[in-house]
Amino acid sequence: MANGDLMDKLVSLTKRRGYVFQSSEIYGGTGSVWDYGPLGVELKNNLKTAWWSTMVHQRDDIEGLDAAILMHPKVWEASGHVEGFTDPLVECSNCHRRFRADLPEVEGGQCPTCGTRDAFGPPRSFNLMFKTFMGPVEDAAATIYMRPETAQGIYVNFLNIQGTARQKVPFGIAQIGKAFRNEITPGNFIFRTREFEQAEMQFFVKPGTDDEWFERWKAERMEWHRGLGIRPEKLRFHQHTPDELAHYAKLAFDIEYEFPFGWKEFEGIHNRTDFDLSRHQEHSGKRLEYIDAATNERYIPYVIETSMGVDRTLLVVLADAYREETVEGEERVVLALNPKLAPLKAAVFPLVKKDGLPELATKLHEALRKAAIPSFYDEAGSIGRRYRRQDEAGTPWCLTVDGQTSEDGTVTIRDRDTLEQVRVGMDRVVGWLQERLAAR
Ligand code: ATP
Repeated sequence: MANGDLMDKLVSLTKRRGYVFQSSEIYGGTGSVWDYGPLGVELKNNLKTAWWSTMVHQRDDIEGLDAAILMHPKVWEASGHVEGFTDPLVECSNCHRRFRADLPEVEGGQCPTCGTRDAFGPPRSFNLMFKTFMGPVEDAAATIYMRPETAQGIYVNFLNIQGTARQKVPFGIAQIGKAFRNEITPGNFIFRTREFEQAEMQFFVKPGTDDEWFERWKAERMEWHRGLGIRPEKLRFHQHTPDELAHYAKLAFDIEYEFPFGWKEFEGIHNRTDFDLSRHQEHSGKRLEYIDAATNERYIPYVIETSMGVDRTLLVVLADAYREETVEGEERVVLALNPKLAPLKAAVFPLVKKDGLPELATKLHEALRKAAIPSFYDEAGSIGRRYRRQDEAGTPWCLTVDGQTSEDGTVTIRDRDTLEQVRVGMDRVVGWLQERLAAR
């Protein structure tokens, strides 16, 4: 399968199975904005829950936060986004389209849209933040921004959280939320969009201990992605070179995945020093120092940040799980998703639509529903076709009620990946699934 094909196949599979739809599709779509359908929202929620569990629930030293998208406009002056969150753009004097100045075709002097040569004007800065107005008056005083990253909500709440949660440095704050960037060249499906979600964690440490914490977080975050089941040979670190490094960052590594369109970042680990808290202290006039109660030392902590794109990681999960196989002479497409992430954990089928099998299968489906195990009941089409549909949707286990069920109360459980089939008593199915879901 050619690499370009994989992206096309993912776009069509995720649409066909109700994972991802283009935003406002009936109106022709909104540029690079996507909606998550019934299976997509489950996958996304499962991914976010897995992150939250590792980062917040399984630790004592990280607190959660859900800060608002709209913030005081001065936040973005302090953070440097008003001044510096820009891409240089050039405009083609023939078709008037604008492009990032660093696109290879543009650097070569040719317009990617109309093909005209040497028709670009001088590069101009273009701010990537979405602007809007707060309140009834549309003037400069009422201008606010849609946050382009979630991190600033964490910095401005640093002392609120440290005090109320009675945390001592080193500790962290974690948050998952929407961010908006008016990207000039969005694309590659959900890889680069204008509205997306981030799962970010800012870990506040004493200056001097930052290098050690950086290494710990770098290792932990890579381990987490491996633990999701992402193939290790498709993951690597990329260290920012001096010209890639943001001016305030001491050290930065990206975690990259080998997407069909090349190795690309989907999470960043950054040593942001005391830049953000110092800037907010300066711009707000409020002291943002930490006082160490044991030694009476005062200092502005350094921040080690782990910043993961939720949608981009979802693309990693989907691309990594996609397989085309031939089984017993038949082609099948499988999403070999980690069962913890899979939207549906099971599908329930009566082998045939008679002999009381649909009633028995419905009972089993209801038992799964009661146990909050997402499952899908399907009696339409041949058993083979029903398996194929669930393989494509990524459902790990298919449970079939057949003639033997009425005799001995057992059902067949078919494993999506190994295709092995075992018989399990109907009354033990919930426990059987729960055990396997807990073990992954
Ligand atoms: P890129 O260089 O790809 O634009 P970035 O370095 O600007 O990314 P960060 O600001 O470090 O990205 O954001 C952290 C994470 O947020 C990224 O690793 C990515 O997963 C996600 N992210 C950033 N911009 C977008 C976007 N436009 N669409 C989807 N995810 C994004």
